[in-house]
Amino acid sequence: MKNKDFIDRLEQKAYLQKEEWIALFSSYDGEDRAYAAERARKTADRYFGKQVYIRGLIEFTSFCRNDCYYCGLRRSNEKAQRYRLLPEEILSCCKAGYELGFRTFVLQGGEDSYYTDERMETIIREIKARFPDCALTLSVGEKEEASYRRFYEAGADRYLLRHETAQEAHYNLLHPPEMSLPHRKECLRQLKRIGFQTGCGFMVGSPGQTPETLAEDMAFIHELHPQMVGIGPFLPHKDTPFAGKEKGGYELTLFLLSLIRLMERNVLLPATTALGTIHPKGREEGILAGANVVMPNLSPVSVRKKYSLYDDKICTGDEAAECIVCMKRRMQSIGYEIVSSRGDYVSIEKERE
Ligand code: SAH
Ligand code: SF4
Repeated sequence: MKNKDFIDRLEQKAYLQKEEWIALFSSYDGEDRAYAAERARKTADRYFGKQVYIRGLIEFTSFCRNDCYYCGLRRSNEKAQRYRLLPEEILSCCKAGYELGFRTFVLQGGEDSYYTDERMETIIREIKARFPDCALTLSVGEKEEASYRRFYEAGADRYLLRHETAQEAHYNLLHPPEMSLPHRKECLRQLKRIGFQTGCGFMVGSPGQTPETLAEDMAFIHELHPQMVGIGPFLPHKDTPFAGKEKGGYELTLFLLSLIRLMERNVLLPATTALGTIHPKGREEGILAGANVVMPNLSPVSVRKKYSLYDDKICTGDEAAECIVCMKRRMQSIGYEIVSSRGDYVSIEKERE
């Protein structure tokens, strides 16, 4: 094991310098990963015990005005199958999810101009009125601060907006010129300021990622101090400019989950669908590496294949009821239990000082 010292220092709340992160990402080995996973799981157990939170993911629109080079929903992908769920359909996904025990719904989609602020506000209010004991998470990209505020005032609780990479040159390699890292970061700061439980994150192994860019990611996460962090492996999509690129590393994704857990101890950290796609036991091993959230799909089966961010996405054929049974079994197999609660972020600022 080459990096026990770094991992121990992280656990003891000593933040690493960028050069140290770079050294770690340039030299870690299998023993480092196993050790980090063990320490990270201990940390997660301290805050969450053997409980795993669930979020019901509703992929409500596959239209997108953006053109991110990695994503199958990008506007230039003429082969993408576009759909949008109507408010009634979204509400019936929530109802089905509620009956299955979900107390958080995540509305995720491309940046779709049909869903104006007004339409978003209406649907947010309706969901919160019908399911007052549930949390609502939005993941609909970059908006004006006034729009974010409007969504928050309508009752949305959380917002996921991955920063994708914290290094500008790398950001510009993944996105067309009309998108920018400073704007992305500004959106994240606004979301946090408004009061959302805010999530950033990135794809592991995206084209152009290096130990240096990962060091920037860790520094940015530490600085933003978000309530949630979403990471999963980059997976190529056949109809994008990155079709021929390598997948992200499975082991590196698990290692990063552990390091993020050690650095941001009580953060809400999902074992993502992409992790389950790259490896059949990805979500289980993600939990064992320090994650504490899973996000089963609540979208109607008829649209699941069309919400194609990357190739070979799992869980596109099963009804929500089957997904939750499968997920419960998976968590039980590793000694963990899915709980039916909102699973909000709990601040530990005092302990952090
Ligand atoms: N449009 C919104 C939400 C949908 S995309 C947004 O961009 O924020 C949600 C996430 O999917 C993105 O943040 C990205 O990190 C991830 N994603 C997109 N394409 C991917 C790919 N090819 N492989 C892995 N993850 C991908
Ligand atoms: Fe659109 Fe999000 Fe895909 Fe970018 S990652 S093209 S914003 S859906």
